[in-house]
Amino acid sequence: GEPVDVSLALDWMQNITSAMSRNEEHLTRLDSAIGDGDHGANMARGFTAVRDRLDDPSKTPASVGEVLTTAGNSLVSVVGGASGPLFGGAFRALGESLGASAEVDAPQFATALAAALAKVQQLGAAVPGDKTMIDAYSPAVDAFRDAAHSGADFCTSAHSAADAAEAGMRATVPLQARKGRASYLGLRSIGHQDPGATSTAYVFHALAEAAEG
Ligand code: ADP
Ligand code: MG
Ligand code: MG
Repeated sequence: GEPVDVSLALDWMQNITSAMSRNEEHLTRLDSAIGDGDHGANMARGFTAVRDRLDDPSKTPASVGEVLTTAGNSLVSVVGGASGPLFGGAFRALGESLGASAEVDAPQFATALAAALAKVQQLGAAVPGDKTMIDAYSPAVDAFRDAAHSGADFCTSAHSAADAAEAGMRATVPLQARKGRASYLGLRSIGHQDPGATSTAYVFHALAEAAEG
């Protein structure tokens, strides 16, 4: 299978930006039910800033790692609240783990995803079952690693990750939130899908789409 190169990483960021804009109202509705209603705007604004920064022809990134670190920096600088530092931190950690390699294979990417998950958990202290983005992120990382380590190519591994993220997203509905604003609702958070788990599923679907070329 094709390794990940700068062009695929840029496609990934473009696909995420499109997905967040397309689904902004849906994310707003989800966050209005159990949060403060800004998750759609946060994601749309954040990834639009990522795209604008990466579109600058005088600053073309030289590596996959640089694309992702740049994306993380943009998210941290324009998105406040819980999701800016968490999504931004995840992309920065991905970029740092990949370093300056021009091309990245599926096992290397699996290692970088694990580093990004560890960063989000270090920053936000959420564990699986807390009804957060971790409930989509963690199974996606496991699925990607299992696929990559059994010899699947990048595209197949990314599709496994996207399926697992989506299942994890759906599985947040019956959970009670234990982290973030939704936790203030206590039992009333039950029965609603977590917004951050939903945007995390978009991130992995965008990766699978980019990997298809
Ligand atoms: P805010 O809650 O500050 O308004 P957003 O609405 O943009 O920020 O993001 C909310 C999402 O952030 C939640 O749906 C959840 O998935 C995620 N989140 C909140 N707190 C944490 C945490 N401690 N760890 C992981 N994810 C979290
Ligand atoms: Mg919010
Ligand atoms: Mg907010």
